[in-house]
Amino acid sequence: MEQGEQDGERGRTARIIIVGSELLRGIVRDVNLYYISSELTSLGFHVDRALILHDKLEDIANELLQAIKAVDVVIVTGGLGPTRDDITRYAVSQAFKLPLIVSHKTLEKLRSIYNDEKEVEKRMKMCYIPKNALILENKVGVAPGFYLKIDSSHIFVLPGVPREVKEMFASQVLPILRNLYNLERIEYVKIKFFSIREKNLEDVILKLLEEHGIKLYYKILIKADHLELNIAIDNVLAPKIEDIVHSIVREVKNRYPKAECVLDFGAGGGI
Ligand code: ATP
Repeated sequence: MEQGEQDGERGRTARIIIVGSELLRGIVRDVNLYYISSELTSLGFHVDRALILHDKLEDIANELLQAIKAVDVVIVTGGLGPTRDDITRYAVSQAFKLPLIVSHKTLEKLRSIYNDEKEVEKRMKMCYIPKNALILENKVGVAPGFYLKIDSSHIFVLPGVPREVKEMFASQVLPILRNLYNLERIEYVKIKFFSIREKNLEDVILKLLEEHGIKLYYKILIKADHLELNIAIDNVLAPKIEDIVHSIVREVKNRYPKAECVLDFGAGGGI
């Protein structure tokens, strides 16, 4: 069961595009997808897919065009820096037929970092932003990101460096999303189960959900010596979550007397 498959509504769908050949070559381990997908999910978005792409203009442009047909929010990371392989801005420009224009604020920032005009010139490409885009300030690094609305989709383009992505998502992307959507953070309740098999635990959950006509998103994670059940709590589920969790625990203990359950109250579950 996937959240979003059941809600399914357009309006809260998102896609993540990660740009960087180094990720596809296994030189760098991806961090951004994990971070962005968990943020978007906890904000109530359904991430329909994530793509990792080479630094290849045509591929990026094509995927951007596909994404705006399919989802409401597109988050792109990587390829905004000064090096030759950084081509994301050109892909955006080509896909949406938007000329690139100089951001004087970014140019000033570059000049304040590099006194030498030659050094500024070498990094000049970071100053080009698609026309009509809103600049997303980068307080950690140099390359700014940008935000664009194309048709009914909101596109956020961020640099690739993970700590820049985190800072910019929190300080720039989130306020825009909050302005567009009535966002409420979805928390997870976590329950640890010992001495029970994954499928047996799932059978208990499925039976209870069916009996009570409840729809929720859950995920059973296999840990070293136990299973961890994660249940997403949105505001519809919040008033019922305590009863649901206790029913699951009771039924597990009934069917599998040797099983042990530990509720993780510190996980933001609020029960
Ligand atoms: P910069 O201005 O620093 O060049 P950028 O937008 O050009 O930023 P990239 O050149 O794509 O970003 O990547 C910069 C650094 O961040 C590289 O070391 C890259 O390996 C790393 N990086 C990029 N994307 C990811 C990712 N998804 N997960 C982890 N590291 C990443």
